Amino acid sequence: MIEFRAVTKRFPDGTLAVQDLDLAIPPREVTVFVGSSGSGKTTILRMINRMVDPTSGSILIDDVDISTREPVKLRRSIGYVMQNSGLLPHRTVLDNIATVPLLDGVKRKAAHARARELMEVVGLEASLADRYPAQLSGGQQQRVGVARGLAADPNILLMDEPFGAVDPLVRAELQVELQRLQRELGKTVVFVTHDIDEAFLLGDTVVLFKPGGIIAQAGAPAELLEHPADDFVASFVDAGR
Ligand code: ATP
Repeated sequence: MIEFRAVTKRFPDGTLAVQDLDLAIPPREVTVFVGSSGSGKTTILRMINRMVDPTSGSILIDDVDISTREPVKLRRSIGYVMQNSGLLPHRTVLDNIATVPLLDGVKRKAAHARARELMEVVGLEASLADRYPAQLSGGQQQRVGVARGLAADPNILLMDEPFGAVDPLVRAELQVELQRLQRELGKTVVFVTHDIDEAFLLGDTVVLFKPGGIIAQAGAPAELLEHPADDFVASFVDAGR
């Protein structure tokens, strides 16, 4: 369980990105953050692995306050997949997938063997192992990004608009793959998107944010669809129909 308790984030320039957020994210399910641009989704996601620290309030993972965890170690224990995959251009597919295990001191041979397994898990052909990111399609790059996120076998996988940069057909394929992976691996997935359709498709829980990181409504997709809490939720949900 990931818990936000009265979390506020104000950036040094004065921007109030997140205001007094209370949120519990259940384990082994997909929780989707959706909302308009600038509503605080990425900031909230990045607070989970301490890429961003809150100004006040606390965040707990399995009852441990993460402010007591060393940020680099915490970050390596949590998978992170971003838009545009964030792959290292001068490293092969295998080395990219094995980034975290190699940093953690796993021997190259073992790290590569695991990376090959992960290529299969995310549906990448073995023949792509020695290619460089620029030699892959956008969809293949995103699969490498997902494999890299899984490489340290994290319990938590953070995904920030992971399928935002690929065309709609590939996006649909990746969404199906993620659903399959989730059924097989049962990770706690926190997934950020602009797209309410994607949120409803993938989310066990959908959290809809208003500007300022304020929750407009959180619940199962059917709850938001059938019982929107207010006009803001109703119009956001309608946009996806
Ligand atoms: P998008 O969907 O466009 O990625 P978002 O919902 O993820 O947006 P955030 O990126 O979390 O929103 O940004 C929330 C608010 O905080 C915005 O007003 C943004 O401009 C601001 N913000 C984000 N990072 C910083 C920063 N490093 N310094 C100052 N303001 C920031």
